[in-house]
Amino acid sequence: MRINVARSSMPPFEEYCAEIRDLWDTHWLTNNGEKALKLEAALMEVLDTPNVVLFSNGHLALEAAIRAMGLSGEAVTTPYTFASTTHALVRCGVSPVFADIRPDTYTLDPAEIERRITPQTTAIVPVHVYGNFCDVEAIAAIAEKHHLKVLYDAAHAFGATYNGRTAAAFGDAAMFSFHATKVFHTVEGGAVVCKSAELANALRLERNFGITGPENTVSVGGNAKMNEFQAAMGLCNLRHLDEEIEKRRKVCAVYHARLNGVAGLTLCPERAEDNCAYLPVLFNGFRKTRDQVFSELAAQDIYARKYFYPITPAFECYADRFDPNDTPIAKRVSEQILTLPLYAGLAEADVQRICDILLR
Ligand SMILES: *Cc1c(COP(=O)(O)O)cnc(C)c1O
Repeated sequence: MRINVARSSMPPFEEYCAEIRDLWDTHWLTNNGEKALKLEAALMEVLDTPNVVLFSNGHLALEAAIRAMGLSGEAVTTPYTFASTTHALVRCGVSPVFADIRPDTYTLDPAEIERRITPQTTAIVPVHVYGNFCDVEAIAAIAEKHHLKVLYDAAHAFGATYNGRTAAAFGDAAMFSFHATKVFHTVEGGAVVCKSAELANALRLERNFGITGPENTVSVGGNAKMNEFQAAMGLCNLRHLDEEIEKRRKVCAVYHARLNGVAGLTLCPERAEDNCAYLPVLFNGFRKTRDQVFSELAAQDIYARKYFYPITPAFECYADRFDPNDTPIAKRVSEQILTLPLYAGLAEADVQRICDILLR
């Protein structure tokens, strides 16, 4: 049977049906419906933050945050991420300036951030990649020193904490993705969280055409609202969040038991505060290359992902614009990384088989 890198978790069918049942009474399917408001309130608690603005997906949430925060000119960001982070900046007219990453956590290296700041820089847009927290204190200090805004792409970090604090605690704002492949999902969906009520208001205008009332439209907003069916999925999945992460933690433990200490392989250290979103393995001096292992797994119907390869400045659409050699560590890591299958229902026997193939 085919094994993919991820498999969406689903609540019990009956639980979802019960959650959406009253939509057939109210006929209220979107625009600040009861489910969305309930989910925002629940997420405020889970994330320990005063403002949660839900969106139809994480990418539009990120674009809305860039606009609502008024970012312009240049933003220092990471090349080692999903297309969304870089594309969001470019699509909003902000020039991404790529800083290199740390070789251990794959997050932005603070010293490299500082090196890339120019008079045009207005913001830092870091990513808590794989749920590994960035150097949040160092980034806050750099931002303060240079009067920059900080917008975190926390798409991978839902359910993870750092010294007991969630990813919502850091930066001027943080974006979470609730895409079907994420640890917590609403099928498609996302949110921006922030401390400023004023920013939250601006985000809500971005989300719904800039409309403030039946006869009032105050800004040129778009449409990126979360609908009630998405929110209902979120309410169900949120009830199972701890269980979801614990199941993932067990899968990770099997991988770690088999692969830790093998010459030429590096795993991110196991961390009690981790959300176990991904299992990246770095192949550096292993007897097979990353690409060979990828192909051997694929030959057995097991589909790992070269996540993140290539780095975003190497995308074809940016061929005339960026040079991937500007961030050599990110480039090397992208050539050596393989993200192994990891999801709540992945059987221990399958994890053992994946490790057998990898180590053979
Ligand atoms: C998933 C993801 C996003 C945005 O995701 P959507 O699919 O639009 O919800 C943004 N950044 C990163 C790093 C991601 O992995």
